Amino acid sequence: MTNSCDVIVIGGGIAGASAGAELSRDLKTVIVEREDQPGYHSTGRSAATFVPSYGPPAIMALTRAGGAFFRNPPDGFCDTALLAPRGEMMIAGPGDEQHVADARKLGLRDLPFEEARRRVPPLRTDGLIATLIDEAAQDIDVDLLHRGFLRQARRKGADVVTSAEVVMIERQGGNWRVETTAGHWQAPVVVNAAGAWADVIAGLAGARPQGITPKRRSAALIPVPEDWDVMSWPLVLGAGETFYFKPMGGKLMVSPADATPVEPHDAWADDMLIAEAIEKFQNTTGFEVTRLDSTWGGLRCFAPDGNPVVGFDPEADGFFWLAGQGGYGIQTSPALSRVTAALVAGAEIPEEIAAFGVDRVSLSPARRHG
Ligand SMILES: Cc1cc2nc3c(=O)[nH]c(=O)nc-3n(C[C@H](O)[C@H](O)[C@H](O)COP(=O)(O)OP(=O)(O)OC[C@H]3O[C@@H](n4cnc5c(N)ncnc54)[C@H](O)[C@@H]3O)c2cc1C
Repeated sequence: MTNSCDVIVIGGGIAGASAGAELSRDLKTVIVEREDQPGYHSTGRSAATFVPSYGPPAIMALTRAGGAFFRNPPDGFCDTALLAPRGEMMIAGPGDEQHVADARKLGLRDLPFEEARRRVPPLRTDGLIATLIDEAAQDIDVDLLHRGFLRQARRKGADVVTSAEVVMIERQGGNWRVETTAGHWQAPVVVNAAGAWADVIAGLAGARPQGITPKRRSAALIPVPEDWDVMSWPLVLGAGETFYFKPMGGKLMVSPADATPVEPHDAWADDMLIAEAIEKFQNTTGFEVTRLDSTWGGLRCFAPDGNPVVGFDPEADGFFWLAGQGGYGIQTSPALSRVTAALVAGAEIPEEIAAFGVDRVSLSPARRHG
């Protein structure tokens, strides 16, 4: 039996969950997710950071537009705060002058070395030319956010179906018929929130791909000396995003900030790059890392121009793209989900989001033709 609904969202990561939460206010919504855990892929592997100064202009606008949601989520969304103070410190060496100038333009504040060492006591500042701080950077409780969106969707009547891999998508009359390993659904609208598999899903539906490229990013968790109060440290980033480390559950996450193009897959860490990042961390702090607690890899997925792809496909009726969120899909999810619900309903981008400079042209799937 094929179940009818208004919209089928493919993918239950942060994109699909947040879109489902917004869409289900007015539409009978079904979210289908291949894994038994909706956060299994990129969403569960992020650095969990909210940085309004990060990314291309369209991303900064979306992040800022979502700030109010993060600071003041709807009633019943969650019991504790979604954001916690963190700060992001950029460390710059000789040759990084342009990065320093760019960071100042974005509002990062110069931090005297002495102050930088007060915040991160083992930081070696000899050999650095500058340290700058972005106090607006915060930690996101990603699990709380993701669960909040899924709960909100279910409360509004959405079905969230896990272990449901989409295997076929067909246009029949005015409907998409979506066949999964857990059943069939049909709806006039499909939202493609399949992350690294967004172009694969388009292929199943007979839509042209957008060139969404998954790029692997690796990370390791390292134990630290007991007398290091790491949870009070900011995220520390090499200028030009050469590597970074940030506190996570009393330990430090270290990442080479790699962006290696790969096929969509269940990602794992690149051990060589992890070793290089650990070396940079050791040179930066003087601390010798003797073991890693864990390593992981995740996929950050980009359209060719680096902007997300959000809107109806101009060539495939009722096929809506919500893809290419890059390394910013968590922080942009509140704004992008509202943009999605508005565009699916045939409305304009809500005024309070457009006011931050979010426009449909820079997100439009039609730009693949340009
Ligand atoms: C190391 C790392 C650090 C990051 N740090 C940050 C950060 O600090 N801040 C930030 O905002 N962002 C960060 N990101 C980016 C962020 O994690 C992603 O942009 C975001 O998680 C993308 O969400 P998504 O829902 O599109 O993708 P996913 O979470 O991957 O969800 C897509 C879902 O679609 C499902 N799917 C695919 N194919 C099918 C199918 N055929 N049938 C059914 N379901 C299917 C998959 O199983 C998957 O669950 C980081 C990413 C990485 C890897």
